[in-house]
This record gives sequence, structure tokens and C-alpha cells, in this order.
Amino acid sequence: MLGNLKGLLVTMREFFRPRVTAQYPKEHLPVAPRFMGFPVLTWDEKVEEPYCTGCMVCVRYCPTQCMSATMKDNPLLQEGKSKRRKIVDEFEINLGRCILCGICVDVCNFDAIVMSHEHELSVFVRNGNRVDLERLLEMGWEHQQKVGWKPSGETGESKEEKAAV
Ligand code: SF4
Ligand code: SF4
Repeated sequence: MLGNLKGLLVTMREFFRPRVTAQYPKEHLPVAPRFMGFPVLTWDEKVEEPYCTGCMVCVRYCPTQCMSATMKDNPLLQEGKSKRRKIVDEFEINLGRCILCGICVDVCNFDAIVMSHEHELSVFVRNGNRVDLERLLEMGWEHQQKVGWKPSGETGESKEEKAAV
């Protein structure tokens, strides 16, 4: 009898406890500020061009080899609008193969790639998540607006210091 009452008490206590689960996909819980979703490319709004020069460093370090990039001479350098001699021409990440390790972000010297909060890109087609330069920049711009992202040169913090916040 006492055992039954104790059990009932536990049930009652849990019944009135605030709900912490969400009925996904109808409900979405907010992610933490440091959540690492898919990598995206950042946009330099002062110059109106990507930060990425297509230098391939991230491509070489990516453990799953899911990235590719090419560079070209920067036309805005000729016009005196940019200091970047080279600029990204094509860039692709196969997000279906990305393991969200963040190595590409760590090795980039130009603040050109960041881990966004995007994590819901499921598709029914194998290899259906190959994302091109245009889409990566769109996703990056959305992320920049959402979190108020600034390059480490403007905040005075190193990339490591920013990541530790
Ligand atoms: S994201 Fe950074 S490391 Fe990768 S190609 Fe662009 S500039 Fe180079
Ligand atoms: S997060 Fe890791 S696996 Fe994904 S693209 Fe960057 S280096 Fe490659």
C-alpha cells in the first residue's frame, strides 16, 4: 500500500513538472549560441564580396574530403575596391558527408567560413545536399545577421577567443 502511494506521488510530481521535450518537427527547441551546425561562407559587406579567396586550405584539411574550391583573379582589385588579389570562383560542400568537426573553420586564415546553426537539411536523395557557393553564401549571410557575426579583425579577438565565448 505504502509502495503504491509512493509510486503515485512520483507520478503526480512528474505530471506537474514543466515539459522539456518538444514534438519535433512541429516544435523546435532553440540551439545554444555555440552550437555547431553546417559550415557556411561569410560575406564581406564592406567590399561586397566573399571573405573566401578559394585558397584550398580548408579543402586540404577536411577529414571527409567533402569540400572543393577554386579561385580566380579578383576583378574588384583591378577596380581598386578590394585588397584581395584572389577571390573564390567555385566552392562546394557535400553537407551529407560533413561530420561537423569544424576543422575547416579552425584552419581558415580569413574568417571566411563559420559553423552555422543550420542542422535540418535532410533530403531523400543520396548526395542531395551538395551545396554550391551561392547557397553557402546565402546561408552564411543569414547566420551573420542572426548572430551579429563580425570577423576577428573587427572585434579585436582572435578566432580562438571568439570560439571560447
Ligand atoms: S574558406 Fe578559408 S581556407 Fe577555405 S578556401 Fe576559403 S579562404 Fe581558404
Ligand atoms: S566541418 Fe569538418 S567535415 Fe565538415 S566541411 Fe568542415 S572540415 Fe569538412
